[in-house]
Amino acid sequence: MKKRMGDILLEMGFIGQDQLEMALAESKETGKMMGDVLLRLDWLTEEQLQLAIAVQSGAKLLDRTTVQVDQQLLSEIPQKFVLKHNIFPFAREGNVIKAATHNPFDVVARDELARMTGQQVTTYIAPKEWIAKSIELYYQTAKAIDDDIEKATRTTGALEEEFEDNQIITLADRLIEKGHVMGASDIHVVPDVNLVRVYYRIDGVLHQNYLFPKAFSKSLVTRFKIMGDMDISNPNIPHDGRIKYQGAVGDIDIRVSTFPTHLGETIVMRLLSYSKVVGDIQVLGFESEDLEQFMKNIHRPYGLIISTGPTGSGKTTTLYSALMAINSPEVNVMTVEDPIEYVIPTVRQTAVNPKAGLTFSNALRSTMRQDPDIVLVGEIRDRETADLALQASMTGHLVLSTLHTNDAASAINRLLDLGVNTSILASSLTLIVAQRLMRKVCSQCSELIDTPPDMKEPFTKNDLEAPEKIRKAVGCERCYNSGYSGRTGIYEIIKIDKEIEQLIFSGALKSTIEAAAIKAGTSLMFRQALRKVIGHVTSMDEVYRVVADA
Ligand SMILES: [Zn+2]
Repeated sequence: MKKRMGDILLEMGFIGQDQLEMALAESKETGKMMGDVLLRLDWLTEEQLQLAIAVQSGAKLLDRTTVQVDQQLLSEIPQKFVLKHNIFPFAREGNVIKAATHNPFDVVARDELARMTGQQVTTYIAPKEWIAKSIELYYQTAKAIDDDIEKATRTTGALEEEFEDNQIITLADRLIEKGHVMGASDIHVVPDVNLVRVYYRIDGVLHQNYLFPKAFSKSLVTRFKIMGDMDISNPNIPHDGRIKYQGAVGDIDIRVSTFPTHLGETIVMRLLSYSKVVGDIQVLGFESEDLEQFMKNIHRPYGLIISTGPTGSGKTTTLYSALMAINSPEVNVMTVEDPIEYVIPTVRQTAVNPKAGLTFSNALRSTMRQDPDIVLVGEIRDRETADLALQASMTGHLVLSTLHTNDAASAINRLLDLGVNTSILASSLTLIVAQRLMRKVCSQCSELIDTPPDMKEPFTKNDLEAPEKIRKAVGCERCYNSGYSGRTGIYEIIKIDKEIEQLIFSGALKSTIEAAAIKAGTSLMFRQALRKVIGHVTSMDEVYRVVADA
């Protein structure tokens, strides 16, 4: 039987009994849905309501920041229909259409969509507001963004003094919106000798999207700096800033940094997903036995779990998903981050602020006085933070953190290099997860080919059976001709068992520890990547782009 919304909200700790009773009475009197009543009273956030609906309906939450909208699909579905039902079909995979709805219990809309398209429909939960905005954006203004960009460049003269401020303002806004719509994580504005290049990083790879006359360079950079509340008087030193962008596509939180080059200032904008609801662990790409290992360890009440990899390898997403999986009203989850990348309801999150004296180590020290059960430390960069994290993990807390190393075994050396005590490290470290993100081949255009004979060797060398057929990336409109769409994680996991603990304690070499881990079941990164090829998830090219053959 369907659980009642009120009970779910209570259980999740989003509202109290008094609030529930008042809202129930109000709902009865006005005939409004209880969720809406609570929203209007500001007792509940849209995100919390979404989570509760997900629990109630069993439908998945839509990860709105990574949605790639299939324009072709939209052109087949009348705008009148989507407006009437407030349902937003955004993607098609095989015979299944994925659609966003704020009400997964609305089977009429789902059935009609299925009948109209002759395909199955899976619904995902998204806020009502977001769906309405998306319909407007994609049906009416998706092309308008490009038109605006073109108009701004066409009507603006090639000389700097001919610029009109509002044209540059529009152009800057559209470049941000375009990045958001395309699901970019970063926007780069890079001056060259005669022109300015604008790149978007999508699925971890830079794509050049626009070229503007060089004369645009300074005005654009200045505009972004003004938006980021940054010093525009000195272009010769790097600056940092933050933009809280509010526009047609929704709110976007952006971290901006400038860098002086000999050709002018370069700007990089990181689009932070403040509204992102981290997906469930199942979709991160763990192999099933690894997922089991991971889940077992994050549910232990103490110990240190390290997620490691280069910048952009998805470490933070993994740890956040872990937090989501273990978060409950009974435990106090606290974080110290730089910056806060996702907001998780009920988790007490702090951002470090070195300028104000709030560093990782002193924020962590204060956190420990707040009686936490689980602590996420954004990154361990220094001895002090490392010592505090280890201490916490030995005194009945589960500590999650990240490091920058290429593989799992190197994390041990990195911590020892920081100067931590060997025996404390050996006894408190429980799990190391090294990871990378690989692009998935586009499901619309990738080709199944016979595995070339020379590509079989890496498989057999890694104790895997070489597949008869593999997927090759091609490129189509949907994947912006990259041949890839979306990403998945590969994970190299070392469980610190008695033997490895002993090896750490005795100061064993990295290679010795790695060998012991493999014997105990660890599958190294390259092998994990090959398994994704066997599963037809990615291509051999992508394997070599992401991981070197060890
Ligand atoms: Zn494609």
